[in-house]
Amino acid sequence: MLNIRRQLKENGKQKPDFNNLGFGTQFTDHMFIMDYTDGKGWHDPRIVPYQPITLDPSAMVFHYGQEMFEGMKAYKTEDKRILLFRPEKNIKRTNITNDRLCIPQVNEDDMLQAIKELVSVEKNWIPDAPGTSLYIRPFIIATDPFLGVRASNTYKFMIITCPVGAYYKGGINPVKIWVETEYVRAVKGGVGYAKTGGNYAASIKAQMNAKERGYAQVLWLDGVERKYVEEVGTMNVFFKINGEVITPSLEGSILPGVTRDSVIELLKSWDVPVTERKLSIDEIYEAAEKGTLEEAFGTGTAAVISPIGELNYNNKVVTINDEKIGTLSQKIYDTVTGIQTGHIQDEFSWTVTVD
Ligand SMILES: *Cc1c(COP(=O)(O)O)cnc(C)c1O
Repeated sequence: MLNIRRQLKENGKQKPDFNNLGFGTQFTDHMFIMDYTDGKGWHDPRIVPYQPITLDPSAMVFHYGQEMFEGMKAYKTEDKRILLFRPEKNIKRTNITNDRLCIPQVNEDDMLQAIKELVSVEKNWIPDAPGTSLYIRPFIIATDPFLGVRASNTYKFMIITCPVGAYYKGGINPVKIWVETEYVRAVKGGVGYAKTGGNYAASIKAQMNAKERGYAQVLWLDGVERKYVEEVGTMNVFFKINGEVITPSLEGSILPGVTRDSVIELLKSWDVPVTERKLSIDEIYEAAEKGTLEEAFGTGTAAVISPIGELNYNNKVVTINDEKIGTLSQKIYDTVTGIQTGHIQDEFSWTVTVD
């Protein structure tokens, strides 16, 4: 049990219009912080007003990127309960990322407690219109003022939160995807399976190029053979071919998404064939030619499901399901969001209540 010190604001700031929220622009009144020092461990957990932090310009995170982050959401149900979705998965993943980045482990119970206490303090910031939620961003940065390359001896763990609007405002529209052949996201042995900023910094150039060409995101191919699909933008990816749902297996270069895992579990419970394996871009294009490429979608916390309507690989264009959301994609979306917001019975015990 953490003994979380509280320094709360008397008057919160003006809340934004909950009917017109964007993503990640407005932050709540408070944040959680705790510090780490070698020999002392994590200490001084506190919930304080949301505020800038002061760091040495030489703080290691600025130079060598030793940092990690997580992303999850709190949802308000119709009867005003507050639900988290599989937070233990994000917490386990935190320590997997930490291990890869040589960041000290965090106690799983302590991290869940910190998330719950902060969300509870900010409960009036959780919007309840359909599709809206409170986005929760835990992250850890290396803070030693030092320019040598090694693991830092001091860190800050912080959690900030922001109310976010519905990802889809007028129905779910499939997006156009550029199959990236020049840049790669990650390779086995690297940090692709870790949720760390460097993966994102390295992805922006390909994303910008895709945007300029009129595509929403890139489909990443594996970094060695440039043959097998890995992820779409910052989401995991699924293809439905001839009745079988296929997603790339986790072999070190792919982020193990909580949504990905939930989609696999759901499909299994519905007796829909689902396979985790290597899937080549050629197999996808052959299926498209044969007319057996039925649906394709990305998965992640932000959008839950993001259907793919078009692929462009070396200027060969295929469209998927007439650029409309597939029936299975829609059913997955409705079920996951239904469980998250308490509309649908949670038979998997995925939700955790915040008091
Ligand atoms: C966070 C993330 C995902 C999605 O993970 P969820 O746990 O489902 O939100 C997928 N790919 C990358 C690269 C990510 O960073």
